[in-house]
Amino acid sequence: MLVVMKFGGTSVGSVAALEKVVDIVTRSRRRGDRVAVVVSAMSGVTDMLLRGACQSVQGDTETAHQLHQEMLRRHREVLDAFLSDPGVHDEVLKAIQSLLDEFDSLCHSIKVLGELTPRALDVIAGMGERMSVRQVAAVLESRGIAARAIDADRLIVTDNNFGAASPLMPQTTRRCQEILVPLLEAGIVPVVTGFIGATEEGIVTTLGRGGSDYSATILGCAIAADEVWIWTDVNGVMTADPRIVPDARTIPHLSYIEMGEMAYFGAKVLHPQAIRPAKRAGIPVRILNTFEPEHPGTLITREPDGGDKRVKAVTAIRGLSLMVIEGSGMLGVPGVAARAFGAVARTGTNVLMISQSSSEQSICFVVPTHDAPRVLAALREEMERELERQDIENITAQDNIVILTVVGAGMRGTPGIASKVFGALGRERINVIAIAQGSSEYNISIVVDQRDADNAVRALHAEFGLGTNAVDPATAVSPSAM
Ligand code: ADP
Ligand code: ASP
Ligand code: MG
Repeated sequence: MLVVMKFGGTSVGSVAALEKVVDIVTRSRRRGDRVAVVVSAMSGVTDMLLRGACQSVQGDTETAHQLHQEMLRRHREVLDAFLSDPGVHDEVLKAIQSLLDEFDSLCHSIKVLGELTPRALDVIAGMGERMSVRQVAAVLESRGIAARAIDADRLIVTDNNFGAASPLMPQTTRRCQEILVPLLEAGIVPVVTGFIGATEEGIVTTLGRGGSDYSATILGCAIAADEVWIWTDVNGVMTADPRIVPDARTIPHLSYIEMGEMAYFGAKVLHPQAIRPAKRAGIPVRILNTFEPEHPGTLITREPDGGDKRVKAVTAIRGLSLMVIEGSGMLGVPGVAARAFGAVARTGTNVLMISQSSSEQSICFVVPTHDAPRVLAALREEMERELERQDIENITAQDNIVILTVVGAGMRGTPGIASKVFGALGRERINVIAIAQGSSEYNISIVVDQRDADNAVRALHAEFGLGTNAVDPATAVSPSAM
C-alpha cells in the first residue's frame, strides 16, 4: 500500500513523540507499505515565528531574538537525543541554525522597513516546517530508515493568495511524479514540509493555519496514494472538541461531506480544505492518534455511515462578528441583499453564515471579527443613500459571536432536529441570536454569544446523545419492559 502519513505539531513536538513517529513508520514499512511523510513544525513554533515577525514590525526585534533561542533549544534537545553521530548531529544543527539566522535577518528587515507584507509573512511562517523536515528525516535515518527531507515549495504549486493559497493540481502532480515517485520506488521515505507551497515563479506561499493536513491530501492525490493518514493527538474525529466536552466520543466513520462540514464549521482536527483533494480522488483518509496508535480512529470515505445516528457532532467557530442590516424600508425592495453581499465580496471577506428574517426587515451574516471593521465601512458606503433616507435604519457589527453547528448526513429529511436544538438551548437559558440551515441539510448552525458557547456545545452534545455518558436509545431498556 502507498500511504501518505502526516504528523502534526504535537506528534513531532518532543523526543517522546518522535519515538512514536519512528515506531509508526517502521511498523508500516515492515508491513510492506511505501510511505511518504508530511510534517508540521514542532508544536508552538509557527506561533513563535509569527509573533517574532509581528513584534519586529513594531520595532522590537529583541522578542524575535529570544524566540530564536527558544526554537533552537527545542530542536537541539531532539537532535541531542537521537543523533549520536557527531557529524550528522552538527550538520542538521547547522541547517536549523541557518534557517533561524534567516529568520533573524528577515525580522531585522521588517523592522527597518516598518512593513510586514503577506508575502514576507508566508516566508517566515513556513520556516518551522523547514526545520522540522530536516530534523525528522535525520531522526528516521538514525533508526535505520532511509529518508530524505524535501521542502514543498518544490512540489506544491499554488496561486499567489498568500496566507491561504490554493494548489494548482496539474503542475503539482507533475512535480510530485518527478520528485517523490522515484524516491518511493527506491525505498526512501520522503519527509515533506506541510503547510507551504510556492507559486509557479517560486515565491513561497502557505496554505493557511493548520495547512499541513491539506498538504498531505494534496500530495496523496498527486501520487495517487491508497490512503492518507493524519496522525494527531486525539483518537480521531470526535463528537465534539474533547477539550470542551470531556465525554466526547470517537466517530468511527464519516463521509467526505460530513468531514468537510465539520472542518468548515470549526473542528480544528482537520484543515477546512483538506478533505477536497481526497474527495475528488476518492482516497480514504484516516485520523489517528500518534500517542495511541492501536486505536482505530476515524475513517473518512465517500459513503456516509449506514447507522441512523442523525446528528454526529457539534462544532464551534469562535472569533466572529454578526453584521446586521435592518430597516423597514427594505421591505420588498429588490436587490438590497445583492448589493450588500457585493460590497462584502469586494473586501475579500469570507461570509460564514447568512440569515434573513422572513419579514425582510433585517439581513444578518457572520464574518471573522478581524474583517468586521472593513465590512462595516464597505456596507455603510454602499448603503449611504438608504441610510440617509432611513430606509435602512442601522448597520451594526456585534463582536464575540460563536457559530455552533450540529452536523450529520442522517439529518437530511429528519424532522424535529431544529426543535431539539432550541429545546436544549432554551433549557440552559441560552439566547439564540440567529439560525441557518445549510441547503445540503447536513447541518444546522446557530449563533450565540461567546459567553454561552461552551455550555451550548455541551447542552447540544447531551441532547443528541453523543457522549459516552449518554444512554444509547438502541440498547436502552425502558422501565416498562422490565
Ligand atoms: P495537529 O497539530 O496534529 O494538526 P491540531 O491541534 O491542529 O493537531 O488538531 C487536533 C486538535 O483538534 C485536538 O487536540 C482537539 O483539541 C481539537 N479538536 C477540535 N474539535 C475536534 C473534534 N471534533 N474531534 C477531535 N479533535 C478536535
Ligand atoms: N505549522 C502550521 C500551523 O501551526 C501548519 C500545521 O501545523 O498544520 O498552522
Ligand atoms: Mg492541525
